[in-house]
Amino acid sequence: LIQRLIEPANQKAEHLTGRNYISYSALSLYQQCPLRYYFKYIAGLSERTVSASLVFGSAIHRAVEHHFNELMAGNEPPCLDALLAEYDKAWQERNPAEVHFGKDDDLESLAQLATRMLTGFQSHEFSKSPGTIIGVEEELRGNIIPGCPDVLGRIDLLIETTEELVVTDLKTSKSRWSKNQAEDSGGQLLLYSELTRPLVPSKRIRLQFAVLTKTKAPAIDLHEVPVDQKRVDRVKRIVDRVWHGIEAEMFYPAPSPMNCPTCPFRSPCSKWPG
Ligand code: SF4
Repeated sequence: LIQRLIEPANQKAEHLTGRNYISYSALSLYQQCPLRYYFKYIAGLSERTVSASLVFGSAIHRAVEHHFNELMAGNEPPCLDALLAEYDKAWQERNPAEVHFGKDDDLESLAQLATRMLTGFQSHEFSKSPGTIIGVEEELRGNIIPGCPDVLGRIDLLIETTEELVVTDLKTSKSRWSKNQAEDSGGQLLLYSELTRPLVPSKRIRLQFAVLTKTKAPAIDLHEVPVDQKRVDRVKRIVDRVWHGIEAEMFYPAPSPMNCPTCPFRSPCSKWPG
């Protein structure tokens, strides 16, 4: 215990989770349900099932990532078939028996939805880079919160113009986001603003979510998150508290009708002695 108390934060994180950093997705999983975080990151239980919507979201991400990678390499934008081939690859990497489909979804209906979404993406301004693409799925890491492990961020898209650096996080969503929803989700981008600042010390940083909807007629909305230093500091203090909860091994179930139905750890959760 004494050794743990004097361990620097990165080592402490590695000791607990096997990773010498923290990521926003891990922190936000802890905020949703500390016990689910424990099963995934501390106990290292494998996830026997994965929801089809999660696989779908990463397959769309992969197709969009391919599009911007081609632009970054100086090539023409890929055609729809090339994007759909990337989408398919993401599904092929999954064991179909482990994918949990919702009652109205199957592979075919999701493939049709992907075609509509990617067609909409190709015709939207967002698909045409307004500056120089300097990163796609770029991993950045930094010690931005004293006393906490390094924060690792995987940034979907980084575009540099003469005046600014545009940091974009791509989301897929059942419906269009409201202004409040974008504001409430802004913590992730605000942390990323701290990670990207050293890349362009003299330029403005602009943060945005690009939200692709999974609706009949898919839409793409760009929501800007203002870089407000007070909000950045608040997010950093929240991360600090969440990390200290993890470090103190404060793990407990936080059941909710939103999270439990799709939780891959329902069985170990019901057996957890408390
Ligand atoms: S089933 Fe619910 S309470 Fe249990 S670990 Fe999963 S999300 Fe948490």
